[in-house]
Amino acid sequence: MAKVLLAALIAAALPLAAQRTVAITIDDLPFVSRDRSLAVAREGTSRLVEALRRERVPAAAFVNESKVQVEGERDARAALLRQWIDAGMELGNHTFTHADFNKQTADWFIDDTVHGEVVWRPMMQRAGKPALWLRHPFLHTGGSAEKRAAYERFLASRGYRVAPVTLEHSDWWFASLHERLLAQGDKVNAEKVRAASLDHLDTMLDYHEGLARKLFGRDIAHVFLMHANTLNSHILPEMLDRFRKRGYSFVPLAKALEDPAYRTADSYFGEQGLVWQHRWAITLGHKTGAQDEPDPAQWLQDLNQATPR
Ligand SMILES: [Zn+2]
Repeated sequence: MAKVLLAALIAAALPLAAQRTVAITIDDLPFVSRDRSLAVAREGTSRLVEALRRERVPAAAFVNESKVQVEGERDARAALLRQWIDAGMELGNHTFTHADFNKQTADWFIDDTVHGEVVWRPMMQRAGKPALWLRHPFLHTGGSAEKRAAYERFLASRGYRVAPVTLEHSDWWFASLHERLLAQGDKVNAEKVRAASLDHLDTMLDYHEGLARKLFGRDIAHVFLMHANTLNSHILPEMLDRFRKRGYSFVPLAKALEDPAYRTADSYFGEQGLVWQHRWAITLGHKTGAQDEPDPAQWLQDLNQATPR
């Protein structure tokens, strides 16, 4: 009897779990690393793109073209972007310089956005993909209502859609620590950090899924933010596994945004780079709770302090 009941429960639970969806988005293309060499960018790009292709996972990836416009390497770095498109991924704008909107005027930031679409945009058009995505650096969308509105008017007039974020786990923080440990020759701690970054992914998925359920009373189609860095290029298959174990399948960004949750009003302005659940919560008159986001464990923070920059 218990076995039959258990089987029935599993059968009932599985279709629900399988309905979870997430869009993978990857920032700071072509690549972000302490070592800015073309060789490192090539290796990391190949690993990321191959993992996505092999596992049939769609992704939208966001470019800072200042890192393409490197003297003597422009064609080679543009070829890195083409690898993503050839593998079926979408590219979008992350501004030319990865500027901080909090520190710039709207006009300056608009110019930096226009400057940032010279290489990837014609590539997308040639590939028959006219989508225009914009991901704000640092998720800074405008410190004042006027600034935010001015930039959004520009985005709309140029045909851009904003790529929101509902899941992130400070992957950039782990990647930086991991790189610095390897530079010190500390392979033991580097391995610990690698493993901890995967566990922190689960911790943050618990947290962000909980925020969405609190707002909407259900799971939403999520948008996950990660970066094109060396650590991720090695562990992306394991990251995707963590998602699959939670019942996620992977969908294109536009598909995720069909979830009605993304039609929730968002009137947030301010200098924090908040995930969208916090923006919706603020707009709906709830407390943000952003200060309650789990931090990496204390031993990691201590290790980070002790590891030279
Ligand atoms: Zn970025």
